[in-house]
Order: sequence, then C-alpha cells, then structure tokens
Amino acid sequence: MPSTDTTNLAQRRGLFFPSAEIHANFPAGFFDYGPEGTKIKQRLVEHWRKTLVENEGGVEIDGSVILPESVFRASGHLENFNDPLVTCETCKTPYRADKLIEDKLGYEIPEGASADFFDQKIAELKIVCPKDKKPLGKTTQFNMMMEVELGAGKKSKGYLKPEACQNIFLDFPRIWKSGRIKLPIGIAQFGRAFRNEIAPRQGLLRTRELEHMDVEVFFNPYKINEVEKWEEIKDYKLQLYLLSDKKIHSLSCEEALKQKIVSGKIITYWLARAQQFFHSLNIPLEKIRFRELEKEARAFYAAETWDLEVKMDDAWVELAACNYRTDYDLKTHGKESKQDLSIREEGTPEKFIPHIFEISTGVGRTFWVMLDANFRKEKRGPEERLFLDLPPALAPYDVAVFPLMKKDGLAEHAEELSHHLRKQNLRVLYDEAGSIGKRYARADEIGVSFAITVDYQSLKDRSVTLRERTSMKQKRIEVDDLDEVFWNFSTGQRTFDDLAD
Ligand SMILES: [Zn+2]
Repeated sequence: MPSTDTTNLAQRRGLFFPSAEIHANFPAGFFDYGPEGTKIKQRLVEHWRKTLVENEGGVEIDGSVILPESVFRASGHLENFNDPLVTCETCKTPYRADKLIEDKLGYEIPEGASADFFDQKIAELKIVCPKDKKPLGKTTQFNMMMEVELGAGKKSKGYLKPEACQNIFLDFPRIWKSGRIKLPIGIAQFGRAFRNEIAPRQGLLRTRELEHMDVEVFFNPYKINEVEKWEEIKDYKLQLYLLSDKKIHSLSCEEALKQKIVSGKIITYWLARAQQFFHSLNIPLEKIRFRELEKEARAFYAAETWDLEVKMDDAWVELAACNYRTDYDLKTHGKESKQDLSIREEGTPEKFIPHIFEISTGVGRTFWVMLDANFRKEKRGPEERLFLDLPPALAPYDVAVFPLMKKDGLAEHAEELSHHLRKQNLRVLYDEAGSIGKRYARADEIGVSFAITVDYQSLKDRSVTLRERTSMKQKRIEVDDLDEVFWNFSTGQRTFDDLAD
C-alpha cells in the first residue's frame, strides 16, 4: 500500500476521492480524480502513449465499452472471469475466499484454484466471518462481468468490457486489411474497464471501474526472434524474479534469452521497454521486478506471464501484466465469428494466425504508485517540506507563475506573463493567493517543476526569478529569454543547472 503520507497528500489536495462521496450509500470501488489529479493522470497516459506506442511505431484505437455476449463467449470470460466467493451464513457478508485465506497465511495463493481447494483451506485454517465470527458457506465462482440489457422489447445481452484489450483483437482484421501496417506491430488502447469486485478495497489498487493502458504486440510466430532494434536493448538488464529460486536476477536481455528464461526476442524486447517505461516514472530499478507466474496463477489464455511489480513498503504491487497470449485471441474470435483471421506475409510459406504479446497496465494503480515513489519529505530546520519529485513530463503543470504581491501592478504583470507562456504551449499554474512561501509549497506538493516569481525588480528590468522545485535553487532570467529556456528544457537540450547563476 502507498504510505500514509501519500494518501494524506492525495486527500488534502483532492487528487482522487470516492465517487458520490456526499451520499451516505456511495458504493465502494469507484473513484473520481480532482482537477490536479486529472492533470497528473493525463500526463501519465500521454507519457505512456509517447514511449510505448508512438516511439515504437505503434498505432492506437478507441473502442466501445459495451460489447456483445458472443465476444466474451469467445474470449472465455463468460466461463472463466470469476472470483471465488464465500458468504457468511449469518450476516450474509460476501468475501473473496482467496483473500480471506491470504490474510490468514500472509502470502498469496492462486485466485484461479478450485472451489474445493478454497473450502478445504477455510476448514483447515478455521476461518470464520471476520465480522461476527460465524461460519462461512461453501465457495462458489462469481463472474465479475457487469451485464447490460440492450434495446427495448426483445433485448439482447451485452457486457461492460472487463479489460481494454478485446476491441484490439476484434479490430485487428480491419486494421490489417487497410494495408497500412506490417508485423510486428503494437496496437494500443487506453480505456475503461469494469469488474464487479466482490469486496473492493485498498483505494485505487482494486476498483470496480478502472482504466487500462494496453499494448498488444501482433507478430509472426515464425519470426519471434526478429527484432529490428535488438541492439538498443540487448545489454539492458531486466529485473527477473524467477520461480526456480524465488530471487530477483538482474540479467541482460541477451542473457535472459540465451538461458531460455524468456521465449523469444520479441517478448524480451517488450519486457525491456516496459521496464524502461516504469523506471522513467522515477521508480527506482531495485523496486521493480518481473515476477514469473506459475501456470495456476496465470490468466487462462497465457502461455507465459510476467507481472511487473513495484515494491511499496514491504509488499509488491502488480502494475502491469505481460502475457504471451499466443494465437488464442484471434483463433477463438475467428471460431466464434466463423471467419478466417489468418494472414499471409511475404517470406512465410503458409498462412498463420498472428501471435500476441500483451503489456496491460492499470492506470489508477500506476498513478498511485507513481505518487508514492515520488513523494519526498525533507526536514528544513523546524519546518518540514513536502514535495512530489515528478519528472517534468509527468508534472501537472510545466511552470507556476506568482506575483510577489498582488499590488503595485505585479499581479497584472504576472497574469500577462502566464497568458504569454500558455500561448507557447506551456501548462501554467497562476496563483496569487497567500504568502509566496505558501504558494511555493502548494506547487511543490503537486510536483510543478518550475516557478516564476514576478517582483519589483521585474518592473524595472523585465527579469524574473526562476525556481527549480527539487533543489529550490533560484536564478534571475530575462523575461524575453523564457521561451527559449523552456524550449530547451522540453527538448532536453539544456537543464536548469546549465543556466547562468
Ligand atoms: Zn458474518
């Protein structure tokens, strides 16, 4: 779980909070993002789009949330997307059987185990209803999909999609036929998903309405070892937590492939890109691992699964599932829809169904973990300083602009400067309320990278102070140079330290 400090900050600043919270009966597992939380989340999604989609030559779709029943018959969700449910025989409170057992044991057990297995464990560990200590009933499988009725009269059945990826599989034939793509290709989607969780808890870690950032990499299985940019990552070290000895091994991509820990170059390449993405959120490498999943713990479609996990306090939290889905998806959708979804590619003698490697990232979880990883508390004399050490690409604003005082024309000057900077495509936070120290502190708390202060000297010589958040260093800059300074920051050509003191 994220630290209490992060949670307090999120609450105080309204970064996210329960939906419909002013109503006494608001349901658990739904959250709204406030103005600043929304901005940070948008930056996170843009950063994902830039690094894992556009930089990799991928494309993105935006598919509908409701899909017909046949889609989920084909995908296997109707049959398999279940959580083990137990209910107290007396107070009727529902629980997830696996979670009750895990709470007692202190370690994770596979949620996909059989109902008998859970009943046996509950009996063995003498688990009772946590509320009234009364006996629990038998375990049943509870399907987590949310059903919707479509139309009037003779209604048809649809479901809110429980993950973002199905649209991508369904749309692949059309995208392929448009002739604008070649394999391997990442087809991505950022979108909502819905899961009727039995007992949502742990804030953004387990919600009923969630968002995913998915990249589905379609590739020719005969060419699983052909990667154009292999040189770029072959020496990059992956943090692999292996089942064989339950330890993290820091192995280069080349090494992981040679030892047959990963089943092909394409998969290794994308694991490297995924790890680099999470590392770029300012999450230290030693707190990132890919956990190899045993067969029983894997999703029902996966031949190989690596869960990308991040360490928070002493627990590892899953942020992304990296699944080698083989030809499962296109094969089953082809069968259900009675269409041939195999394709032909030059250099491959026979028709084939593309294989898929997936990197599916939970947005809310990643957002929360990212806040936690960037939360800093520093002692400054008697005062305590709190700030988010977000990288500039993830900060809600590029710059804050403050007039030193509201009077003597300083506010007008500062507003004019904000207006100018916004026209340069910068995201500007303008704030004139309260002492200058308080305004710096407020901007620091939400991770704004830079702050400009317009003071009395500015009126005389058109210069302002530019302050960098993390170091709190200040430099005097000519107003007319600001456009160039920020342009250099955004393109990475110069940093704050390169500016003259
Ligand atoms: Zn009970």
